[in-house]
Amino acid sequence: MLVVSAHAADFCTRAGGTIAKYAGDGWKVQVIAVTYGARGESSGYWQANPNGTCEDCGEIRRREAHAAADRLGAAIEFWEYLDYPLYFDEERQRRLTRAILDLRPAVVLTHWIEDPTNSDHEKTGRAVIDAISSGAQIGAFPTTPPHAFPDVFFFESTVPYSEFNNFSPDTYIDIGDTFAAKMEAIACFACQPQLRDYYVHFARHRGFQATNWLKRKIANAEAFKRYLPYVGTAFPLMERR
Ligand SMILES: [Zn+2]
Repeated sequence: MLVVSAHAADFCTRAGGTIAKYAGDGWKVQVIAVTYGARGESSGYWQANPNGTCEDCGEIRRREAHAAADRLGAAIEFWEYLDYPLYFDEERQRRLTRAILDLRPAVVLTHWIEDPTNSDHEKTGRAVIDAISSGAQIGAFPTTPPHAFPDVFFFESTVPYSEFNNFSPDTYIDIGDTFAAKMEAIACFACQPQLRDYYVHFARHRGFQATNWLKRKIANAEAFKRYLPYVGTAFPLMERR
C-alpha cells in the first residue's frame, strides 16, 4: 500500500486507522509525505515561534510524522518540497512515477482531486493519478516494466468541507480496532493541536453513516472514494456480519 500525503499529518488524520489495520494484517505500507506543511499546516509552531523558520519547523514536523507513522506500523519518507503553494513540475512528476514503479503498490491512498480551498491537497491527488497513469505506459521508464493501475482510494477531503469539495464517499472502513492507535498517532502532531477534535468528530460522523448503510454498529470509520470501477468474479458485497 502506498499513501501519498501532501503535508506531514494528512496520511494519519484521513487514513490512519486504515493504515494501522493493513499494517497489522501484514501489509507493507509506505507513506510519502511530499511536504512538511511548514507554511500552511503548522499553526502551533508559528504561534509558539513567531520568529521561527520553515527549516526548523520542518525538522519538528518530520519527527512528529515519523513518530505517527511508527505508531501506525508504516514506513515514511519525506520529499521536503515546500507547501502553500506546492507545485509538481515534470521532474517531480517523474519522481512520483519512478516511486510507483519501484514500489508497485496494489493499493494507493491519496487526496481527493477536487479541493478548491486547499490546492496542495488537490494538486497532490492529481499528481498521483498522473504518475500512476504514466507508470502504466511501457515507455515511461523503458527498462522497467510498466505497472498497471492499482486500486486507488481517495481519502477524506479537507475537513470539514466535504460537501463543498464534492467528496461523496463510496467506501467506508470500520476502524474500531485501530481507532485508539490512530488517536495516539494523531497526538504526535503537537504543531496541529486541533487535529484530535476534528478527526474524532469525523470518525464518528463517518461511523454514523456507515452504521446506517450496514445496519450494524460502527463507532468510528474512515471514508474513501474509489477512482476505478471494481472488477472481479463476484460482486463486492457488504460485510453484514
Ligand atoms: Zn494537508
